Amino acid sequence: MTEKKAHDLVIIGGGPGGLAAGLYASRARMDTLLLEKAAYGGQMLTTFFIENYPGFPEGIAGFELADLMKKQTDLYGLQIQTAEVRGVVKEGNIFDIDTIEGTVRSRAVIVSTGADPDKLGVPGEERLAGRGVSYCATCDGALYRERTVAVVGGGDSAIEEALFLTRFADRIHVIHRRDELRATPISRERAFANEKIVFEWNTVLKEILGEDEVTGLLLENVKTGQTRKLAAAGVFIYVGITPQSSFLEDMVEKNEGGYIKTDLTMSSSVPGLFAIGDVRAESVRQVASAVGDGVTAAIYAYKYLVE
Ligand code: NAP
Repeated sequence: MTEKKAHDLVIIGGGPGGLAAGLYASRARMDTLLLEKAAYGGQMLTTFFIENYPGFPEGIAGFELADLMKKQTDLYGLQIQTAEVRGVVKEGNIFDIDTIEGTVRSRAVIVSTGADPDKLGVPGEERLAGRGVSYCATCDGALYRERTVAVVGGGDSAIEEALFLTRFADRIHVIHRRDELRATPISRERAFANEKIVFEWNTVLKEILGEDEVTGLLLENVKTGQTRKLAAAGVFIYVGITPQSSFLEDMVEKNEGGYIKTDLTMSSSVPGLFAIGDVRAESVRQVASAVGDGVTAAIYAYKYLVE
């Protein structure tokens, strides 16, 4: 698909921020192309239920919200292509976006590539990935009906997904390295009230056990140094996320975590290149805030092109 003509705007990544930017840009009649490497929706697709997106008082399934956002962009003719971006260079006023399908050219770019779940890096994690080790309860939770599973982490992802797993599993052990959760109060209260959830405080996962599938976990109490085995058929790991910004190498300013620095207009250090959602520094990492970032970036991208 190597193109000679430059688009007005290319959006890299089709999560909520990218789709919101695409909606505003296509309504502004900008020639806009959204590139997505897999399926549009981003982390909404791995979130079973979203209760804090305004306008849906009953909550909404993540995939359904993604679908509605995509349908709304279709109404205004947003072009979407499946292609993984490998790199971006700016020559003069034009960005050359290198994808595995060829080069795409654009006058402005919005990066909305989000963040991927971190690995814990313990023995057994890589070997048993997809065979009891998972990073997505929404995708794999139903495999553990009436079984015992574990969740590692104490943030919103870990606690929300532990609550989701109570639909299937008999018992969910939440393994957290401290004795206090990072998750928001409402999630904490629900988890503490749920009889299926057991907290393993001050505990870390040392090794994931099993030949062909997960059969147990080796745990260590960080206060006493004592280790013990816990029988479990699955382990869901939620120990944070890493921004997907490495394809930009050092063309743009990032913080030490690899998050792209922006100003309040979502502009990066490179004029015409904007960053939104989980990939940008200081993001509060919510669907609603990603949407807001997307709208801001689309409006300022329009101004950038006009000016
Ligand atoms: P997070 O907030 O960074 O939490 C990661 C958790 O993993 C923390 O409890 C951390 O422990 C633990 N951890 C990190 N490294 C570890 C290690 N090596 N060994 C053991 N434990 C480790 O990540 P997240 O839960 O994925 O959330 C990411 C962002 O998305 C957050 O800003 C969150 O608020 C947001 N989010 C929001 C919602 C919602 O609003 N509904 C849902 C999901 C996520 P410590 O606490 O000790 O650091």
